[in-house]
Amino acid sequence: MKELLTPTFLMAQKQLEDVAKLINLEEDILERLKFPRKSLLVSMPVRMDNGHVKTFMGYRVQHDLAMGPSKGGIRYSPEVDLGEVAALAMWMTWKCALMNLPFGGAKGGICCNPEEMSEGELERLTRRYTTEILPMIGPERDIPAPDMYTNEKTMAWIMDTYSNYYGYAIPGVVTGKPIGLGGSLGRIEATGRGVAFSTMYILEKMGMPSSGLDVVVQGFGNVGSVAAKRLFEQGHNIIAISDVHGGIYNKNGINIDKLINYYKETGTIKDFEASDNIINEELLELGCDILIPCAIGNVITRDNAPKLNCKIISEGANGPVTPEADDILKDKGIIIIPSILANSGGVTVSYFEWVQDIQRLFWSEDEVINKLNILLTKTLDEVYGLSQDRHVDLRTAAMMIGVGRVAEAKRLRGLYP
Ligand code: NAD
Repeated sequence: MKELLTPTFLMAQKQLEDVAKLINLEEDILERLKFPRKSLLVSMPVRMDNGHVKTFMGYRVQHDLAMGPSKGGIRYSPEVDLGEVAALAMWMTWKCALMNLPFGGAKGGICCNPEEMSEGELERLTRRYTTEILPMIGPERDIPAPDMYTNEKTMAWIMDTYSNYYGYAIPGVVTGKPIGLGGSLGRIEATGRGVAFSTMYILEKMGMPSSGLDVVVQGFGNVGSVAAKRLFEQGHNIIAISDVHGGIYNKNGINIDKLINYYKETGTIKDFEASDNIINEELLELGCDILIPCAIGNVITRDNAPKLNCKIISEGANGPVTPEADDILKDKGIIIIPSILANSGGVTVSYFEWVQDIQRLFWSEDEVINKLNILLTKTLDEVYGLSQDRHVDLRTAAMMIGVGRVAEAKRLRGLYP
């Protein structure tokens, strides 16, 4: 239990408890939602390229199973622990319910440093992890997807390992797969696309211009690069962007198309044309209209929140703002689009991928994007409307809807036995 109750998990629990009061949630249901249903801790010995064996710790946590199979990404990072994975699983539950997807929330992770590992080592680690968590996952049970430092190649290894065990191809066991293995068109861009879509929706509601605003993005991975590209195409100025090694700043705006090509060629964003190198801490405090954290959790804390100088924060990453920072930012009048809403495009298209895999019937990219936009607009309308009606911020409104739906499912199903 001590392993579970880390600061990140306690933060997720506190958010739930706060919302429970607002929706008058029964104590008995709150008690059931406060903890994950299933947590698996595995140790994985892997033969490294130098011939020695190294043991890695991995986790898979299923927070809630009331609405259907559980769904959630797998991250590889030196910071992964049980509490973080459990908090992320809980947020996935609210996110899926908020988007009205027939899933509960789950998350997985391996404590490792993928930047220091070869492709062969990562493949052996992934296949061993899949074998260890195999009884927990499956198209009807729990469906992993990519997250930090995992990608479609990782998903292909998981799908292959799982399918080999059963003796036939089971594409629906993971989403975020390569298209050639049953992946969905539009999945790779879906999260960043959703972040940009939600940001533009809120700009319109706030009566702010739909182009020409200054935008700062932390993280240049799957989510950050796509969100930046979409907003750049929309005519906004991406004045700063970063990755784990640091960031670049150009007050006149960075050409994101050229930056993506530069990154492909050099493997870094540093020293990009006409820009100054800056560190991640400085980047978050830059004066801008929109700040989009798309890297890791807990980057905006009570220490740097007072120094933030933006009008809107759109949470591409999961949990980038701590609750203490949330209060400070509220007082400063900064609007936060919460991660369970802003980055929900990823799990939504993952849902589409799962549906296509099960039906063995695949959709065009336009069909995927149209369906995504319809669901996002509906949810944004609901969250924005509730925030206006109840005079609460967007995070509270989104949580009220998500938690309320899961609670209703629990009420309907009752308590077994
Ligand atoms: P990614 O691995 O593709 O990219 C992560 C980026 O963050 C990289 O540019 C990396 O260099 C940077 N980064 C890592 N540590 C950093 C640090 N300490 N400071 C600054 N930058 C750092 O990951 P991703 O898929 O883009 O995911 C980013 C975030 O979005 C994560 O919090 C993830 O949970 C969340 N998310 C991802 C998806 C998805 O579909 N990929 C969906 C929902 C939420």
